[in-house]
Amino acid sequence: MTPVIPVLEVDLGPGIRAFFTTRHGGRSGAPWDSLNLGLGVGDDAGTVRANRALVDQVAGGQVTFGTQVHGTDVVTVTARGLGAPPPEADALVAAAPGVPVGVYVADCVPVLLADPRARVVAVAHAGRPGVEHGVVPAVLEAVLAAGARLGDLRAVVGPAVCGECYEVPAELQERVAARVPAARSQTSWGTAALDLPRAVEVQLEAAGVRRVQRVHRCTRTDDTFFSHRRSSAAGTPAGRFAGVVTLV
Ligand SMILES: [Zn+2]
Repeated sequence: MTPVIPVLEVDLGPGIRAFFTTRHGGRSGAPWDSLNLGLGVGDDAGTVRANRALVDQVAGGQVTFGTQVHGTDVVTVTARGLGAPPPEADALVAAAPGVPVGVYVADCVPVLLADPRARVVAVAHAGRPGVEHGVVPAVLEAVLAAGARLGDLRAVVGPAVCGECYEVPAELQERVAARVPAARSQTSWGTAALDLPRAVEVQLEAAGVRRVQRVHRCTRTDDTFFSHRRSSAAGTPAGRFAGVVTLV
């Protein structure tokens, strides 16, 4: 069956549905054009809700998102959802089937986790503060507490701004690299940068996750996805795409 919108599906094992949305298949006009999932970026709220409903269809249920604040709090989602407005959380864990969890991103790293044997899934939004302060170790701790086992855990590091595109001031690079050395990078034009997807990959591996997949797609240069940095450079508001994982 053709999905209602094009998505980038990833394999996290049997009984798991995991995917990233793209810019395509939605109802938003320019400059989003067209599957913007972000409220508060200037897009029409009704249109955004219609776009989100398309994602729910692909996920097989209403996707739960936390209120993302670049923090390290992790919240467990049950079949009752989180209510409105959802609590502040940049990582969500679910152990019930038909309870999709997601994160909104536009350059930050969307991380999907699943233990198909223990039947636990999780998602995290790892931007620069999240990488620096440890949202990935935090979500791993939570998913293991929920019954997942390191040996069975699988992870996907989704589309995000790459280490050759994410220019930062040298002091910021120093500060982040002091805590997460793998984050240190250089732009393709030779200035200080951070490689957030690589940093997340290393954080997962350092914690003992053996099966880590990378989606090597840079949001800044690949306009299949929304990019805060690309849009800022163009003087337009960025949309948001999503990473979603669920037990089916
Ligand atoms: Zn790039």
